[in-house]
Amino acid sequence: MTSIRHLLAGAAALAFGLGAWAQGYPNKPITLVVPFAAGGPTDVVARSVGAAMAKTLGQSVVIENKLGAGGTLAAGYVAKAAPDGYTVLIHHNGMATAPSLYRKLSFNAQTDFEYVGQVVDVPMTLLGRKDLPANNAQELAAWLKANAAKVNLAHAGLGAVSHLCSMVLRQAVGVELQTVPYQGTAPAMTALLGGQVDVLCDQTTQTVQHIKAGTVKMYGTTTAQRIKALPDAPTLAEAGLKGVEVVVWHGVYAPKGTPKEALDKLNAALRAALKDPGVTARMAELGAEVVSESKQTPEALRTWLKAETERYAPMIKAAGVYAD
Ligand code: ASP
Repeated sequence: MTSIRHLLAGAAALAFGLGAWAQGYPNKPITLVVPFAAGGPTDVVARSVGAAMAKTLGQSVVIENKLGAGGTLAAGYVAKAAPDGYTVLIHHNGMATAPSLYRKLSFNAQTDFEYVGQVVDVPMTLLGRKDLPANNAQELAAWLKANAAKVNLAHAGLGAVSHLCSMVLRQAVGVELQTVPYQGTAPAMTALLGGQVDVLCDQTTQTVQHIKAGTVKMYGTTTAQRIKALPDAPTLAEAGLKGVEVVVWHGVYAPKGTPKEALDKLNAALRAALKDPGVTARMAELGAEVVSESKQTPEALRTWLKAETERYAPMIKAAGVYAD
């Protein structure tokens, strides 16, 4: 009898334990929302980091590309998603520029989210179609001025870093250019490769492969120093085009009200992913740099986002660019 009672008690404890485990977070796949097209720079970072996070979370991390309105559609979508830890967002500087670029936004970047942490910093490169006559940054500036009326500069919409870079470029060269928006720089790159657009400024997480293959013209990096992934590439300042400095930072966000248990687990998974040798090697190869541990915290992302939002506001105001 005693042994049967023990057996039953043991089975009950096991059932309770399994039940509690089944209800624990996460017990189903997590959706990581990417605001731009599949195959583009943000998507590349998301897929690499997301796959590594899945190892720690014990659940798959499914990438969902939510396109439109320069990344703001995705941010608005996640802001309104159930705050249960199963829908999270990866986004870049656009979280800080969109509030100045859009008169109406469906979300408030500083009050509608919980923060998970920063991810990687990625340089940008200024590219031209392969047959563009300009062979260096100074020639490009002259060519842009001479051809302003017919130049097509591709970007991924207001709020995209390619758009931000194009604003900085136009200010540096002192010329107004016609811009062509895409739903990510993967399709913008296809247009550049096909010669349908002339110029694109984009993250190295997409451009390194095309630069190495020689299928585009590369005028320089948007960084203060040369980058290891492209040692022969001059910085734009070095190449004679000063003032075009943009470094792309990334953060992971969850809807406001997401339980702390889920946020802690997401943060632990993010930290582990950023130490994963597969991730660090892939990122280094693509010119991206995993942020320091002190930046991998919710608080660091919150502070950074606020500072960046304040930093960009006057610049965007001066450029007079906005969307209704
Ligand atoms: N590079 C894009 C941007 O300009 C985003 C993307 O397609 O990943 O923001």
